[in-house]
Amino acid sequence: MKFFPNRISRHISSRIQLTHEQVWRLLAPSERSENVRRYAASLITVRIQLISTLFALVVPLWSIIDLLVFPAPVSLWLTLLRFASAVVFAFLAWPRKLSETRPYAQAIATLLVMMMVPSIFYLVSLLILNSAPTTGMQTVMTHFYTFMPTVVLAGLAIFPLTALEIVLLSLPVLITTIIGFLIDSAPMPLEENITILWCMTMMMGVSIFSGMSQSHYMESMVRRAMTDSLTGAASRRSGMEALELSFHLAAMSQQPLSVAFFDIDRFKSINDSFGHDIGDQILQRFAERLRGLLRHSDTLVRWGGEEFLAILPNMPAKQLPIFIDRLRVGGFGTGPDGKTLLTASVGIAETMTDNVSDWPALVELADQRMYEAKRQGRARALLPGDIMALLDLGAVKAGK
Ligand code: GH3
Ligand code: MG
Ligand code: MG
Repeated sequence: MKFFPNRISRHISSRIQLTHEQVWRLLAPSERSENVRRYAASLITVRIQLISTLFALVVPLWSIIDLLVFPAPVSLWLTLLRFASAVVFAFLAWPRKLSETRPYAQAIATLLVMMMVPSIFYLVSLLILNSAPTTGMQTVMTHFYTFMPTVVLAGLAIFPLTALEIVLLSLPVLITTIIGFLIDSAPMPLEENITILWCMTMMMGVSIFSGMSQSHYMESMVRRAMTDSLTGAASRRSGMEALELSFHLAAMSQQPLSVAFFDIDRFKSINDSFGHDIGDQILQRFAERLRGLLRHSDTLVRWGGEEFLAILPNMPAKQLPIFIDRLRVGGFGTGPDGKTLLTASVGIAETMTDNVSDWPALVELADQRMYEAKRQGRARALLPGDIMALLDLGAVKAGK
């Protein structure tokens, strides 16, 4: 069957290269990675600030029109309402730092507040305008207010949100609109109410589509910027961000944080003897094996050419020998000749034992220890407290 739905969906998804997991991530926020969440949070916040700045200026200015169109008590109440909304918008526009621990929740909560301002404005304006409009211009203005919640739902389209979030954020706006229909003292005909609700649903649909495409684009951009394309490890830039965050979280929760600095031994000779492409393959394999030896919560960073950094949260100095054992047993396999073992020199520093004040100092200490391990003969790790552990990496697997 030519137009079988599966066939069509497969055709479309293969064109935009979406896997099932990626589709899920576009539908619900829970599947998003921490990096994507952070990036989305800052993007959402910046856009909220931009719109709020605009509204903080335009909303009170509009009272000139209210003053011209409506008679005295009504126009004054509307002006007061406009200034009250402008205050909230000015508050939302105010530059603020995103929460370190829950930036995404903060961004969504701020967005909800911003969306509710026009909806509440609409409800209160109904109470103020509690008589039927008498002039044509008043009718036009009243209609403007009625369409405000629809505009809000259309506005959601500029945010990189998932489908579920757009539906949930739209619900309070839809409910306020329906309440508005019920309390309106000059009710519109039922058909007009249905038209408005239909428009709102359409806007929600457009916003869902736009939000999902933005999320997809954002996710691929974040992934590209955050990971090293050769090894799949975190890029140095995102590694620095991860270090900053891990250091902060460790200090806040009084937990230890360790950093292990890896430098492959005599890597230049691999390049010289086998060529750069084979060198690249070895780097990929090294990263893959090292990642396999880390815990789920650890982060592997490609710090430079053949230098990698492992961020190890909640890893106290006394547990480091166990970590080293894991490296020793796992090993990094062999070099391109299939015989010579691939080894690395490692330097490890830990926040509490080493009593460092910031993450650059932690990395610097791990780096110095790595150099000391090199100096003392390579294929070994220097741990806090001057403990040198021989890293006969891969020795157990040497026969393989
Ligand atoms: P040591 O045991 O003292 O660390 O010796 P080494 O040869 O590993 O150290 P050195 O720092 O002198 O050499 C690192 C080499 O890594 C030099 C550079 O050509 C190579 N390199 C850096 N980045 C890449 C890369 O992306 N691909 C390949 N193939 N080689 C790289
Ligand atoms: Mg090096
Ligand atoms: Mg090296």
